[in-house]
Amino acid sequence: MKNIASVKHFVKLFIVLIFFIGKSSFAQTTDSTIVANIVKEGADHSQLEQLAHELLDKIGPRLVGTPQMEQAADWAIVKYAGWGVEAKKEKWGEWRGWERGISHIDLISPRVKSLEGMQLAWSPGMGNKTTTGGLIILPDVADSVAFQQWLPNVKGKFVLISMLQPTGRPDYNWQEFATKESFDRMKKDRTAQTEAWANRIKKTGFTTKTLPPVLEKAGAAGIIINNWSAGFGVDKIFGAYTKNIPTIDIGLEDYGLLYRLTASGDEPKISVHTESKERGVVPTFNTIAEIKGTEKPDEYVILSAHFDSWDGGTGATDNGTGTLTMMEALRILKKIYPSPKRTILVGHWGSEEQGLNGSRAFVEDHPQIVQNIQAVFNQDNGTGRVTNLSGQGFLHSYEYLTRWLSKAPSYIKDSIQTRFPGTPGTGGSDFASFVTAGAPAFSLSSLSWSYGTYTWHTNRDTYDKIVFDDLRNNAILVAILAYMASEDPAKTSREKSVLPIDTKTGKPAQWPAPTKATRKGGLD
Ligand SMILES: [Zn+2]
Repeated sequence: MKNIASVKHFVKLFIVLIFFIGKSSFAQTTDSTIVANIVKEGADHSQLEQLAHELLDKIGPRLVGTPQMEQAADWAIVKYAGWGVEAKKEKWGEWRGWERGISHIDLISPRVKSLEGMQLAWSPGMGNKTTTGGLIILPDVADSVAFQQWLPNVKGKFVLISMLQPTGRPDYNWQEFATKESFDRMKKDRTAQTEAWANRIKKTGFTTKTLPPVLEKAGAAGIIINNWSAGFGVDKIFGAYTKNIPTIDIGLEDYGLLYRLTASGDEPKISVHTESKERGVVPTFNTIAEIKGTEKPDEYVILSAHFDSWDGGTGATDNGTGTLTMMEALRILKKIYPSPKRTILVGHWGSEEQGLNGSRAFVEDHPQIVQNIQAVFNQDNGTGRVTNLSGQGFLHSYEYLTRWLSKAPSYIKDSIQTRFPGTPGTGGSDFASFVTAGAPAFSLSSLSWSYGTYTWHTNRDTYDKIVFDDLRNNAILVAILAYMASEDPAKTSREKSVLPIDTKTGKPAQWPAPTKATRKGGLD
């Protein structure tokens, strides 16, 4: 019995072996088998969750000039090495070095409550000091002279310089539950209040950017803002303009609480302790990974996504998801298609958020690569499935993009709307740095998943907002497009289409010109 069983087993194994040997040595390596293997690897052996955890939870946000940006680059290089892919940091500039510390903000009178808020990026640290103080609302003065007369009142106080929002509910919530009259009234009131507040700032003679340093000079204890992102519990977190006192964003609910207590004369007091470190001048860099081409190593397929982020959340969807998509795509390619015809390069750009600086610097520093680009695929608008692809004004892009896309499985490609020839992008994300240099670069544009309101540059841009099913599809899509672009017998055309008539000149619009990278940032 035992013997017969093992003979049977052996025969079975033998047949299976013959099958596999036959497949690899006799069957031609076709597009469809490689594509099928890419799909299978991406769907069955995805590493996206693990990568996301390591990058977003452990390292965190990646503001330019922070140690976390550098840690992320080193982490990516180690991950790539584990997959047998070479990667390196490439310095292109210098930035103000800064590191975020804690933000502790408490209401201590007339009652005690910890407040939800955080210092803005580059807010000066307070060292060991905790400041307790009253609050004052930016007043509605007649003009800049009246403002100067009022200014000494800020001494020792935290100054509230944002408007009080009439509602903390997003419009879609009003739309669903309010009467039409009530919703219309709220919107009308809010528009009037928003205009009045803009006017209030204007009458001081300053702007939202120049006002904080003036208040600081006049002896304010700190600047308090609320940059509401029009959704439940969500604020956009950008940079501070003060040099010595903290600039803090407080969430709508608590900002409204402080504002109303101050306005009603209840004289609230808050206690504030923020820490941050200045780190002098630090290098900024791109992180570049590549699999060298075997037949045409000097021609490039570039997978593109900026690595840096704002730091209110962890930059999960801006642009952790694009970053992870490109890493995962390259991991899949290295495994399934390790000897590409053309070089496949991943560009993890630095300082996109301050003006596409990393990709602009790359374009400026590598003219020979830019000249030999087969295609650039950039993804940078959130966690969703790719649903839009424009030819960016390249006249023949429909021919190659459509052909490459046709190899993707229908559950991925059928929801992608193409637009040809499209118009060349001038900004928005890193593909524009290449398009303006005349290289065929494309934006893989995603479903929104409430990106603009809830995650883009907000304090809620965190791991839990990632939709991994969509991300898996995107990584597979990118790997297939890269494979097809790499194998294409022809180099892609970069012939530009005639652009629509510019109404100002009456002639076809000009192709957008490249913008120079900012190579020194935050150092004035
Ligand atoms: Zn972005």
